[in-house]
Amino acid sequence: MVKLLSDTYFTFRSIFTGMGITWRHLFTKSVTVQYPAQRDVLPERVRLKLDVNMDDCIGCRLCERACPVDCITIGTTKSTDDDDLGETSTGHKKKLWVDQFDIDMAKCCYCELCVHPCPTDCITMVEDYEYSSYDRNDLILSFSDMTPEQIEEVQAKLEREEEEKRKKKEEARAAKEKAKAEGGKDEAGGGAASSGDTDADAEKAARRAEREAKRAARKAEREGKDAGESSGAAGESGGSAAKSDDTDADKEARRAEREAKRAARKAEREAKKKSEE
Ligand code: SF4
Ligand code: SF4
Repeated sequence: MVKLLSDTYFTFRSIFTGMGITWRHLFTKSVTVQYPAQRDVLPERVRLKLDVNMDDCIGCRLCERACPVDCITIGTTKSTDDDDLGETSTGHKKKLWVDQFDIDMAKCCYCELCVHPCPTDCITMVEDYEYSSYDRNDLILSFSDMTPEQIEEVQAKLEREEEEKRKKKEEARAAKEKAKAEGGKDEAGGGAASSGDTDADAEKAARRAEREAKRAARKAEREGKDAGESSGAAGESGGSAAKSDDTDADKEARRAEREAKRAARKAEREAKKKSEE
């Protein structure tokens, strides 16, 4: 009996507690969002999906390098000299065709590390979360709008330009080498001429030294003779003195001759040395 009364009490208490909550919520403001007719206001800096403004992308690949899971793939082609790709809204000159810009959102971990290094602020997180799909490939977002034909065209153009530049470079190098070789020949000719000049100078110096030596020898001989004559006039007693003077003069002449020859040899050696230099 006691148990029956107790169970009845707890049953009614539960009913009135539950109904009390229900009645209380009938008179409070509703918090249910009627999605998709209604949408929540998302928090600031929410990370949901990446978007790229290709008009501002310069193909620098900083975002690709920053991504820790390698979910960004960028392909670029250099523009040719006559291409004008314009500027980004931030004033950066565009020099590359961005022929591929894919982000695999299935791999993305929403870290936003790709967003911060972008120099033109063209890669951003946007408030779009409605891109669920049954196929994983649908989650690879492609931002480049270049067609395969356009890509082929710009690549072929670049190849042609590079080939032309390479040819011009080779021609310039060949011309430079040719000019160098011709310059070398001229230099060698000049060197030969100068060495010829030096040889002639050496010969001249040797001849001059020889002449001077001969002149000195003659002078010494003359002096010796004069001394002999004066000693003959002085008599027999002076004969021995004259003889002795004669001998001195001869010695002097020979010494002068030797010195002259030495000077000639020295001059010759110096001239040779100069020509070798
Ligand atoms: S948010 Fe992170 S994981 Fe996703 S693409 Fe950017 S760097 Fe890579
Ligand atoms: S960092 Fe910015 S400008 Fe550079 S490739 Fe990525 S999106 Fe383009």
